[in-house]
Amino acid sequence: MGAAERENVIIIGSGPAGYTAALYAARAELAPLVIEGFAWGGLLQQTTEVENFPGYPEGVTGPVMMQQLRDQAERFGARFITDQATRVELASEPGERHRVWVEDDEYSARSVILAMGAEHKKLGVPGEAELSGRGVSYCATCDAAFFKDREAMVVGGGDSAMEEAIFLAKFSSSVTVVHRREEFRASRIMLDRARAVENIELLTPYVIEQLFPGESGALGSARLRNTATGEARELPLSGAFVAIGHVPQSELVRGVIDLDDNGYVLVEGRSTKTNRPGVFAAGDLVDHTYRQAVTAAGSGCQAALDAEWYLRDTPAVAETAAASATP
Ligand code: NAP
Repeated sequence: MGAAERENVIIIGSGPAGYTAALYAARAELAPLVIEGFAWGGLLQQTTEVENFPGYPEGVTGPVMMQQLRDQAERFGARFITDQATRVELASEPGERHRVWVEDDEYSARSVILAMGAEHKKLGVPGEAELSGRGVSYCATCDAAFFKDREAMVVGGGDSAMEEAIFLAKFSSSVTVVHRREEFRASRIMLDRARAVENIELLTPYVIEQLFPGESGALGSARLRNTATGEARELPLSGAFVAIGHVPQSELVRGVIDLDDNGYVLVEGRSTKTNRPGVFAAGDLVDHTYRQAVTAAGSGCQAALDAEWYLRDTPAVAETAAASATP
């Protein structure tokens, strides 16, 4: 189906929010079209064990869980485009078509669910971009094995940083967790687990000022600065893992959909409704508080139900569906 035919629902994004929205929309017989991106599955593709998703007493890996969710949505009629949405034009009146482009291919829809998720936040220091993929990483579970018996650093003080450090410590000779404040944001249980690991050192209050290449051209060291005393310190390193949180991937809708100061999509009350009629948002794109796979899946379900009710209860939209069904 191309631009001439109007989809009931286009879902942009494919983490637990996007796929759960697809599952519910498919079961409501809306035949959703999911523009899932190249790296479908979102951030969970980069995790190993997910131990806190209800229903998996033995845990499940992120990629397996995403494959299963995708299969489940497909079973009920969801369709997928494994490519990026590159542009949108979102209507301001019910009944007008929303348009979504994947490069030059145009798709149109009565409703749209935004579920583009979040990406890793960057440090923004000199050397980071140049050494990314050459010692600088945002995913220990993807890259830890490259740092076997070498020195690594994790930047950040939240649960992600602790999780990365604990995982890395199984490979690296030493892991220094560098955090900018004395107090950690991480939960007690994660902090205690990290403290109990022999080759993890917690270093506070330090910021990273610059990352430097070594002789091989890959990462060789980092310059840190103590935020209390101003003291500078050079840390020899092979790996630097940045775990300082996430930023929402809302670039596609900036200037069209209302965002908060940090770029998260704003929704109406407890619903998933955005400021455009028939456009809903779910998952990490909206949620800067809970950011869990299970809460993202829950909000994907809400978005699909909101879209279903919108299509059913908005006369101008229902008319376009009736017209397209007429031979
Ligand atoms: P987070 O809780 O927002 O923590 C981000 C950390 O990075 C904070 O300590 C912050 O420092 C630091 N930071 C932010 N920007 C920085 C910068 N520019 N330079 C240096 N440090 C910077 O993010 P998260 O750790 O990714 O966790 C996100 C959510 O996922 C949380 O709800 C968490 O509980 C959950 N999570 C849970 C688990 C688990 O339970 N197993 C694992 C991972 C994540 P400040 O503290 O000074 O702000």
